[in-house]
Amino acid sequence: MTNNNEAIVIDTPTNEKSSKELIHWIKETLNCKINAIVPTHFHDDCLGGLKVFQENDIPSYAYLKTIKFAQENKFTVPENGFSDSLILKVGDETIIAKFFGEGHTKDNIICYFPYEHVLFGGCLIKARNASKGYLGDSNVKDWSKTVKRIKKEYQDVKVVVPGHGDLGDKKLLDYTIKLFKTQ
Ligand SMILES: [Zn+2]
Repeated sequence: MTNNNEAIVIDTPTNEKSSKELIHWIKETLNCKINAIVPTHFHDDCLGGLKVFQENDIPSYAYLKTIKFAQENKFTVPENGFSDSLILKVGDETIIAKFFGEGHTKDNIICYFPYEHVLFGGCLIKARNASKGYLGDSNVKDWSKTVKRIKKEYQDVKVVVPGHGDLGDKKLLDYTIKLFKTQ
């Protein structure tokens, strides 16, 4: 997301080549300074290109568990950790990165940009008609509960960006809650 010639990137592309291209595009085409990179969980669709961001002196911020899992898996490790939520400045506005509970992984967080009412759900939030996806690190039991908390906190949300697939609105939260309903 961008505001007043500053940008924050939520999740790196999966590889270094695409990350280089993204950084170049934000700097040269959007003419923005990149304030931060925030991976929303430890999988490579969130931090696979982190090394390139670090080489470009872009600070990285992640939930403490994401840092722990990145270390355990010998992935590139985000530099700055937070324990519950974090507020970052972008231009004249702010974004919130926050942990609401387990789901796709035990460390998945979301980011919210109040200025445009945009929720970046990462792999915790599913696109319309999406399947449950990779469940190897998941907590299927808590998933719906976690999304319900998000829905309650951001009742003014207008745009919901899932980890994969087309963006949507509040209905993606309801779709995800239903998909992982346990009873
Ligand atoms: Zn994932």
